[in-house]
Amino acid sequence: MSDPIAEPIAAVPYVIIDRDGDHHLVGSRCAKCGATLLGRRVACAACGANDSVTQVRLSDKGRIRTCTVVHRSYPGVPVPFIAAVIDIDGGGVVRGTLRGPIPSDPVAEVGRPVRICVEDTGQRDALGRAFYSQVFRPLEAAA
Ligand SMILES: [Zn+2]
Repeated sequence: MSDPIAEPIAAVPYVIIDRDGDHHLVGSRCAKCGATLLGRRVACAACGANDSVTQVRLSDKGRIRTCTVVHRSYPGVPVPFIAAVIDIDGGGVVRGTLRGPIPSDPVAEVGRPVRICVEDTGQRDALGRAFYSQVFRPLEAAA
């Protein structure tokens, strides 16, 4: 049996912490209109259907919809960092931190492919448990 204090916890409800290390994001897909939304939903935010939404595992790949460099943040948060919005392959949109070098022109990053990783944020709760959340890592542009 593992030490419960060492168990990581999800920083946001759409992050799934898998005991075998297969962490991922979860979303909802509407069978009526095809919309895919981040997180668990009881109804479709696109068409309003409340009888056709099922939980789905979201892809670990996507593309940068937009991003910006953040130079000022809360005390204890290292800056600069890149805040990004990602269009997830297969549907869904998620925001978070893009790792990698700080770009001189964030607009030039739009459309770049990324891997969506669920990792230790470095932050801990009062019991010392690690918060895990999504971060994005650039992928080489595929042909
Ligand atoms: Zn729908």
